[in-house]
Amino acid sequence: MKIKISIPPEAQRIIRELEAAGFRAFVVGGCVRDSLMGREPDDWDICTDASPAEMLEIFEGRRVIETGLKHGTLTVLGSRNDNGAWESYEVTTFRIDGDYSDNRHPDSVSFTREIEEDLSRRDFTVNAMAYSDKEGLIDPFGGAADIQRKIIRCVGEPETRFNEDALRIMRCIRFSSVLGFAVEDETGKAAVKLKSLLDNIAAERIRVELDKLLCGDGAPRVLREYRDVIAQIIPEVKEAFDFDQQTPYHVYDVWEHTLHVVGNIEQEPVLRLAAFFHDLGKPDVFSVRDGRGHFYRHERVSEEYARTIMRRLKYDNETKEKVCALVENHGVVFRDSEKQVRRLLNKLGEEGLRDLIRLELADVKSQAPQFTDERIELISNFSRLVDKVLEDEQCFSMKDLAVDGKDVLNMGIKQGPEVGRIMNCLLDKVLEGELENEREALISEARRIARSRGGNVDADLNADAGEGAGKQIH
Ligand code: ATP
Ligand code: MG
Repeated sequence: MKIKISIPPEAQRIIRELEAAGFRAFVVGGCVRDSLMGREPDDWDICTDASPAEMLEIFEGRRVIETGLKHGTLTVLGSRNDNGAWESYEVTTFRIDGDYSDNRHPDSVSFTREIEEDLSRRDFTVNAMAYSDKEGLIDPFGGAADIQRKIIRCVGEPETRFNEDALRIMRCIRFSSVLGFAVEDETGKAAVKLKSLLDNIAAERIRVELDKLLCGDGAPRVLREYRDVIAQIIPEVKEAFDFDQQTPYHVYDVWEHTLHVVGNIEQEPVLRLAAFFHDLGKPDVFSVRDGRGHFYRHERVSEEYARTIMRRLKYDNETKEKVCALVENHGVVFRDSEKQVRRLLNKLGEEGLRDLIRLELADVKSQAPQFTDERIELISNFSRLVDKVLEDEQCFSMKDLAVDGKDVLNMGIKQGPEVGRIMNCLLDKVLEGELENEREALISEARRIARSRGGNVDADLNADAGEGAGKQIH
């Protein structure tokens, strides 16, 4: 059967221009794989037998970026897209990689006129196909058949390929997770055998693969099957393997429970990471009382693990802080209490609290089934209470308070830490529901607090005076 891939017009134009100049040109790699699978490709890479110098000549007069040229890559810009960014395509001369002495980078690259040689340096059969309308599918390693059979298989001898570039070990299990493919036997064995080569790979590279792996449909399966590879990049997980929880609330050991939570939560990095880390501290704090296991304050220990590991893997601060906040606060028992909602909103913000609810849901779905329905209902009720508190526009943060620092200063309190302390007291009382978030009530409470602390407060100040209306006493 003749395969037809629908190539975006700009990429098509680049291919036509190369062909018109007498060269061969193809879309290649991930975009061919995704197209054959009916998935939308992220980007379209083009390869050609034209040399870098020949490409420059052919694309003369077009906007190009030459930064990758010594490796054979010319970036050709198309038109601007709706967001104003340039549509861009990487066009690379067919390449052969030289020897690899650092388990990651070829010592040299050289160019070739043979597409098959270019395809043979690529990592997996499903990634080693090229296509053009003129020549059809070029598939020397059986990539299309492996897509049919849903298999990730190395091009060539797996151990050699992982030795050349150990990042391929992570890519292998990442593709298995994202595409939902099994890893072919020899490829899988080699990945596990050579896992220690991952120590030579930059943390940033590992992180990118880990994020994609965790967000894939097959994440729980891959974490289960390749736990030893995961332990190579995150040795802290070993303690969780087969760790019997000895409690009626759980049916799985710590690692297996973790995998279920990962599978039960939305496929976004922050949530999947939070699920991955949430119980990692359990083995450290395990104790047995009354014949069952307890994990006192494991959330804190898990949070410390999450922080250490994410720092080591060079996660950005925003992701790290979001994940840590979720891990630290997971396991909170949601009550029918607007006060608790305000407290948690204050601590986590709206997005953070919604994420915590997602984590709790995924967590209870992965615990002993006899408690699931009841706990899900508690969480749903709490989630509705969050909606209500937000709809009511209740105050849950300093910026929502009906007074600000200036009002406290206008009462005659000296600029300094005392102002913050008074504001905090006010917020605390509002969160508790002990005080209305109304200007008058807040100002008279602020006065009372200041006096009780021995502060010098302007007693004549009109409680409902507008901003700046009070005279200051120093
Ligand atoms: P995706 O972009 O969806 O993550 P992809 O297959 O496009 O998947 P890229 O990292 O964009 O992956 O690489 C493009 C192509 O380059 C791959 O399909 C593969 O043919 C080749 N490739 C990338 N990294 C390697 C590697 N480490 N070793 C060998 N070939 C690689
Ligand atoms: Mg790609």
